Amino acid sequence: MRLSQGLSVSEEGELVEYSRCRCGATWTKVFDGDGGKPEQPSR
Ligand SMILES: [Zn+2]
Repeated sequence: MRLSQGLSVSEEGELVEYSRCRCGATWTKVFDGDGGKPEQPSR
């Protein structure tokens, strides 16, 4: 079971979800904030 800890937006505009399991494990899940816009290889 995962419990959502919250959402935040990274400097690159990606949506980052922080989750924590009931057993104590934590992890992050990153979504493409632009919804389909390809990432640029370099800037
Ligand atoms: Zn767990």
